Amino acid sequence: MVIKMDVTEIVDKIDSELIIRLTKKLVSMDSQNPPGKCNHLAKYLEEECKKLGFETKIYPLDDNRHNIIVSFGDGERDIVLSGHLDTVPVGDLSNWKYPPLEATEENGRLYGRGTVDMLGGVATLIGVMELLHRMNIKFNHKIVFAGTADEEVGMHGAFHLQEKGIMADADCLIITEATALRIGIAEKGPYWMRLHVKGKSAHGSMPEVGINAIEGACVGINHLKEIIPETEHELLGRTTVNIGIIKGGEKINIVPDECYVDCDFRLIPGVNHKEFDLKVKKLMTHLSEEYPCKYSHEILHTIPALNTKSDIPIIQNLLKWSNKIANHPLEPIGLAYATDAAALIPPRDIPFAIIGGGSPSMLHQDNEYVEIAELIDAAKIIAGAIIDTFGKEK
Ligand SMILES: [Zn+2]
Repeated sequence: MVIKMDVTEIVDKIDSELIIRLTKKLVSMDSQNPPGKCNHLAKYLEEECKKLGFETKIYPLDDNRHNIIVSFGDGERDIVLSGHLDTVPVGDLSNWKYPPLEATEENGRLYGRGTVDMLGGVATLIGVMELLHRMNIKFNHKIVFAGTADEEVGMHGAFHLQEKGIMADADCLIITEATALRIGIAEKGPYWMRLHVKGKSAHGSMPEVGINAIEGACVGINHLKEIIPETEHELLGRTTVNIGIIKGGEKINIVPDECYVDCDFRLIPGVNHKEFDLKVKKLMTHLSEEYPCKYSHEILHTIPALNTKSDIPIIQNLLKWSNKIANHPLEPIGLAYATDAAALIPPRDIPFAIIGGGSPSMLHQDNEYVEIAELIDAAKIIAGAIIDTFGKEK
């Protein structure tokens, strides 16, 4: 690859002001989910991106929730950059040091809901595109930004775009969720399941006449960890389970006849969903043999776990730039949380990376903030890696 200017000189020309301005504006627009209204953010990005010379197209999920696609270039294949437009709710305002929907700047930080997760990331990606476009870097690819609606509640926007064929020509996907500028190449897949336990009610003074569904649920909980597969992922460790909800019982003096337990399994890549379903079914049979309740289960929600090889050019270049700009080791990381990648990628196996400014520990917290320098550095890392991997001779 021969580009007249050194790539480091190019990425240093990133428009920091643009990234900061977009982040502030997007945070101020309020896209808390629920209700996840974000059509006004999509509209705003459409106006801004048209001014930058990009093509735009809105993909509505409904009247209030809109996805947006922004692109430039005329290659047959695509490099897809993505970020979600909704945020989690701000919660109790009295816990916030600054108004969460104002993006207050203090000591090099921006405070506000979505500064990290991930309106700052959306602004970062527009900053990357603006740089590649302004510097007239030539690619065989079209550069595409996918702004998604409704990530925080079910990833419906990303699934919608996937169905519309947005990923059909993608050669890679980069998502700017918070990684503190590390390069994430694997993520766990949520497998949410409800364990239903049915017993028999009786007067609380005669428990021997009934079958206690809460006690039955306890027996079930004790066995849940046994179905966690032995396999370990080099970046993610083992599959985990969290018991998030348990509900049962009406009154202290009644033997409860019903109880349910909501279990949040996080499967690692390589754990086959069908095989895991079978393990869960077998467990139901086993429990019914061990305790006289009726056990059944219901799958509430599943998203696949994902994994990309680290020895491919885009990942190697992202690692190189993360090392160069943020001094991070040349080692990728795995993410415990799921991203829109899980909706956008399957059934194809598209190389992907998660890399963004802000600490993962900030996700969904009060007083969410991002170091402005990290947003800018994220843009430099991504732009540098894209130029090194896909840029072509003029
Ligand atoms: Zn997010």
